[in-house]
Amino acid sequence: MTTISPMTQDDPPATETTMRGLIKHHAGPELQLVNDRPIPEPGPREVRIKVKKVGICGTDRHIWEWDEWAAGRVPPGIITGHEFVGHVDKIGTAVTKCEIGQRVSAEGHMTAGVDYNSRTGNAHIAADTKIFGIDCDGCFAEYIVVPEDNVWHMHPDIDDKYAAILDPLGNAVHTVMSADVSAKTVLISGVGIIGLMAVTVAKAAGASRIYCTDVNPPRLELAKKLGAYAAYDARDDSWVHDVRAQTHEGVDVLLEMSGAPAAMNQGFRALRNGGTAALLGLPARTVDFDFNAHIIFKGCTVLGINGRRMWETWYQMEQLLLSGRLELDDIITHEFPMSEYQEAFRTMISGDGIKVLMNVSD
Ligand code: ZN
Repeated sequence: MTTISPMTQDDPPATETTMRGLIKHHAGPELQLVNDRPIPEPGPREVRIKVKKVGICGTDRHIWEWDEWAAGRVPPGIITGHEFVGHVDKIGTAVTKCEIGQRVSAEGHMTAGVDYNSRTGNAHIAADTKIFGIDCDGCFAEYIVVPEDNVWHMHPDIDDKYAAILDPLGNAVHTVMSADVSAKTVLISGVGIIGLMAVTVAKAAGASRIYCTDVNPPRLELAKKLGAYAAYDARDDSWVHDVRAQTHEGVDVLLEMSGAPAAMNQGFRALRNGGTAALLGLPARTVDFDFNAHIIFKGCTVLGINGRRMWETWYQMEQLLLSGRLELDDIITHEFPMSEYQEAFRTMISGDGIKVLMNVSD
């Protein structure tokens, strides 16, 4: 057990061999900023990155609140965070794909690359996946070390504030692109951070009309601003009839982003026969679901979506960002210095903010 010295905004900066980091300091709620974490050294095929800007994810909220999932998975003591942009600061002795100074982000899903899926183009669902910031030290710190194979080189025309959130944007892009939305009607159930991103991604990818549902009226308004044709409060399910009447007996594509059992059932009712459902939202428990009506007799295609395809999703994100067609500025609502992490998390958890970023270094 290492000792932990809590720090405030007035505390001295870390030394030449130590750094500041936001750690899960105990098996309980909240995180703590410390300044005495050793600066990590990269192994032979690893890269050290000086972190500049990070994003707070819904997953970080679970870790902050220390819910059942977090308590069962996250080892106390680790540095949290998995969404970031920074610069390569040091490379291992056998590294061939990265150079010091390059602006980079990284894919958070790490695999040894030896299992069936990693070797057949599906590393995002590898059996041995570990995620930094969840299973081991992450990016809410001045430095992070990642395998060189996980590094993504950032296009110079992509702003840091977008570069810092490619992890969740990649979830949205992976979901939308898996379902082939071009010239199709699309229902997005759940417009939290990733659902809102999916609205602008689906619009950019050529969806015809986008319908959204949620139980949060301001988020529904924002979904419309980002390009949704109509947005409905899911607490009154009369919208299902309206949407079926406005489309060819239902939407072509359902993108399920809520994980709420009621929304999943509504969404499948609104999906036309032969449609495609891509499921990203995670239900908290087993769901009561009518397979006969919703899948079998409907003849629909159901896709489970996990992570980002390596590296197809990252190339798609790069090109969508460079196209100028993604509207992310209303989704990224706040930026704080990492020293104000408590206010940053409060802003995100209260719902006052949507995507909240923290600045780790200049
Ligand atoms: Zn995330």
